[in-house]
This record gives sequence, C-alpha cells and structure tokens, in this order.
Amino acid sequence: MKTTQSERFWSHVVTGPAADDCWIWTGAIADDGYGRFWTKDGDGQKVIRPQRFAYQLATGTPLPPSVLLLHACDVPICVHAVADAAESHLSEGTHKTNMLDRAQKNRHANRWSAWRFNGLARQERAQRSRDLRDVILTHGWDPERMSGALAGVEESHPRLF
Ligand SMILES: [Zn+2]
Repeated sequence: MKTTQSERFWSHVVTGPAADDCWIWTGAIADDGYGRFWTKDGDGQKVIRPQRFAYQLATGTPLPPSVLLLHACDVPICVHAVADAAESHLSEGTHKTNMLDRAQKNRHANRWSAWRFNGLARQERAQRSRDLRDVILTHGWDPERMSGALAGVEESHPRLF
C-alpha cells in the first residue's frame, strides 16, 4: 500500500509522553532553525514548514501564506497542533499578536520552554534545533539527554529544569 503524505509526515515526528509535551519534527531542518517538509505537488515537489502542515491537518483548513503561526512553547521544530486552541502549541497570529504573545509569555510554557529558543540568533537557533533532533533520533524521547544536549553540558551531568 502506498504511504500517504500524512503518514510520511508523522514518520518524522516524535511525540513526548505527556499531554502537554512537544511533538518534535525530526526531518530536515533549514538554516533558520525551522523544519522543512517536502510534499508532492503534481509532478513536482513543494516545500512546507512542518508546523504549518501539522496545523492544516489538525484544522482541516488550508492556511493562507499571509497567516503566521505562533509557537506557544517557543520550540521552532514543535508540530503539536490540535484543533482545541487550549491544547495546541500552535496558533494563528500576526506580527503584532506575536509581539503581544511574547510580552505575556509562558501562557503555554512547559518544561521544554526552558530551552529558550526565543531571542537566539538564527545560527544558534538552527544549531539548537538540529541538536535536539539528533539526540531524539539517536536516543528517542529522553528528557535528560534532550536538555543536556541543548544546554551544552555533558550527558553524564543531567541538568535540572
Ligand atoms: Zn511545543
């Protein structure tokens, strides 16, 4: 049986065990620190940010390019999108609401927000996203290793968060 596009998508996602955990994209990550998912588009291919793909799957509605998605958890490669806005890590916003959202921080903060992607330079953010992905690809969902890798500490010195 042929794999559908959404099956292929979810094969690149690792979800944390807790309800409010992030769902981490483990596919391609571009130099901006955000993921990239290639989809078939007729005979060609189209690239989409995984969080937008996940959000459209969750809502069943195409997202116009002008609509930005906000990450309540601040983890750029999180694709935890669900129809219930109270549970979703992703919501629609404008640049303005993005700023407001940052001002009223931690609405959805979970322990992963301690990774503090927010405010990082582009290159650092990309590196952090890739480090997070790589530790998950190697070890699965392992909170100590995930935090350790992102904090740049030895794996033998687990970090409190
Ligand atoms: Zn998240």
